[in-house]
Amino acid sequence: MFLDPILGWFSMDMGIDLGTCNTLVCVRNEGIVLNEPSVVAVRKGTNIVLNNGEAVGLVAREMLGKTPGSISAIRPMKDGVISDFEITEAMLSYFIRKVHGRNSRLIKPRVVIAVPSGITAVERRAVIDSAERAGARKVYIVKEPMAAGIGAGLPITEPTASMIVDIGGGTTEVAIMSLADISTCESVRIGGDDMDEAIINHLKRTYNLLIGEPRAEQVKIQLGSAAPLEEELTMEIAGRDTISGLPRKIVITSEEIREALKEPIAGIIEAVTSTLEKAEPELAADLIENGLHLAGGGSLLRGMDKVLANATGLKVIRADEPLTCVARGTSVYLENLELWKDTIDHSGGWE
Ligand code: ADP
Ligand code: MG
Repeated sequence: MFLDPILGWFSMDMGIDLGTCNTLVCVRNEGIVLNEPSVVAVRKGTNIVLNNGEAVGLVAREMLGKTPGSISAIRPMKDGVISDFEITEAMLSYFIRKVHGRNSRLIKPRVVIAVPSGITAVERRAVIDSAERAGARKVYIVKEPMAAGIGAGLPITEPTASMIVDIGGGTTEVAIMSLADISTCESVRIGGDDMDEAIINHLKRTYNLLIGEPRAEQVKIQLGSAAPLEEELTMEIAGRDTISGLPRKIVITSEEIREALKEPIAGIIEAVTSTLEKAEPELAADLIENGLHLAGGGSLLRGMDKVLANATGLKVIRADEPLTCVARGTSVYLENLELWKDTIDHSGGWE
């Protein structure tokens, strides 16, 4: 929060990372003030958000499983596109209000929102309208890889190439940037969710063991890897036997999970190499010096940096705190609106 020098009034401008898995809000001088799952709980088969529109984020996730059957969880950004405008609006609006509160001493905030680069102009407009209806005085949209680049401290305004690979839950965004613009980018619908699903399928096929998504994510985080580990790991996992229908426990190894993760990882590698193939030769040459930077939760998978380095021949650097990289980037973007004005005024960072 800070005193607006022109308006002489308190303002709480915010940067929002509207991710496929998690939404984060960053406020100037305060850092990350909100970090919640991008989930909305609705009455099954309807668009009615429970608790008068307040069953969003952590609350929504907590409700799940407690009243199974009548409630369904929706992740409106899951595939990097907006599957349902109303539900996305309910989510965005809830998060903005939660941060801004109903403090009458505050003027309406300016809001910078990072969205997946694959969303259409119509979806982008819908995000802007939703944020305005939720009380924003001015809304700026920035593409996620751009925000990730800023958050990772890359020199993206300079005449040299910066490359970001942002591995999120539903999508992986690959972009090569220079002079504050995206030169080449690709967004694929492969991310951490697909790794979870690959683990579920492996256990079902190999052991007739059924596990849910939260448990599969836990396996991925505890045991998952993209490249061989110095010391391979094992883990006990409980689930339901698909034949007897009864609960059962088995022991799994990091080797078999790595094998199960091969396909989604190959998809991510493919997106990276094909983006490099499309890059301007001058920028591609810069990358030999500058390397490739990783952001997003999926970049935390053990050995992800190694397999990407092998596939590209480039130096691979994981951003500090990859899960908050985009949100911190939006906040820096907000602080430098003047600097970014040209990009924003002409296209909102859009092509
Ligand atoms: P999004 O930007 O799409 O919301 P995030 O950048 O928040 O996604 O990343 C979420 C994904 O990162 C999830 O699939 C989650 O399981 C995964 N993730 C988080 N921590 C780890 C970890 N330590 N190892 C592997 N994957 C992780
Ligand atoms: Mg993200």
